[in-house]
Amino acid sequence: MNWIKKVLNIGEKIKKVIRERPSKEDVEKSNWTTCCAGPILKTELQENQWVCKSCGKHHRISCKNRFDLFFGKDNYEIIDTPVPIDDPLNWHDSKPYTSRLKSARKATGQKCAVMIASGKVNGVTITAGAINFQFIGGSVGSAEGEAIIYGIQHAIDNQNPFVFFPSGGGQRMHESPIALTQMTRTTLAVNELKNKKLPYIICFTDPTAGGITASFASLSDVAISEPGALIAFAGRRVIEATVKEKLDENFQKAERVLECGFIDLIVERKDLSEKIATLLKILLKKNSVESAINIDETTENTRSISPIAS
Ligand SMILES: [Zn+2]
Repeated sequence: MNWIKKVLNIGEKIKKVIRERPSKEDVEKSNWTTCCAGPILKTELQENQWVCKSCGKHHRISCKNRFDLFFGKDNYEIIDTPVPIDDPLNWHDSKPYTSRLKSARKATGQKCAVMIASGKVNGVTITAGAINFQFIGGSVGSAEGEAIIYGIQHAIDNQNPFVFFPSGGGQRMHESPIALTQMTRTTLAVNELKNKKLPYIICFTDPTAGGITASFASLSDVAISEPGALIAFAGRRVIEATVKEKLDENFQKAERVLECGFIDLIVERKDLSEKIATLLKILLKKNSVESAINIDETTENTRSISPIAS
């Protein structure tokens, strides 16, 4: 083999290595993920509620993992939510929206990015919802909007407080104006919840941005966040380009957002159930007026007590 052939052969080998790099799906299926100290077994991370023991990073988790941690393993009921028509605009970018939906459903086992569940935490019955970032970046389209509204309706029908764990980049561009209308629809649904004087708690998880922050996620009675979560509307690069100055490292992180007064407290994942149940007991005045609540539940749909100022 002469030197020209040798060079060409090396080029082919490089191409082969690049071609054989694991796909996004392969990485997701792998037993390994990465954190501060390099590769880490997913099982090791799972044992610590998907929080890194070294740096404390709260890794992103699926809706089912979230409910398992919040309510206790399988100690809740998944509420089936309606799914409107897929791809109403017949959207096609680098690939059809329908094929993106198909891949996301296969990867997550969810029908849409939002899941709703109902269960008890420390004696308080709660309707809860969460967004799975793995489902098209946790973006909100018609199915997700419908699921959130359905969850709020479930809370109203059952006189439950509503707790939601948002995450995601905002409204889903593949559904354009239909996705944008979900901001208004979910806001109106939250207003209904408040009219019924039912508590509403949001716990921001990493990352929450765009239309999610700008609608239902910012309307809660108490706004909690997991440590280190990114909470934003516009992205950091867009803001830097607009204000023409370098933003500090903590910009849009939960800790800075707390300093600015946008959220009320930061709670570690291991303490979330306990803390949220305590807050709900206070908001519901559960200890002092337990019997009054029971009487109200049997006589009418709305409680006569005014547990929260909305
Ligand atoms: Zn780490």
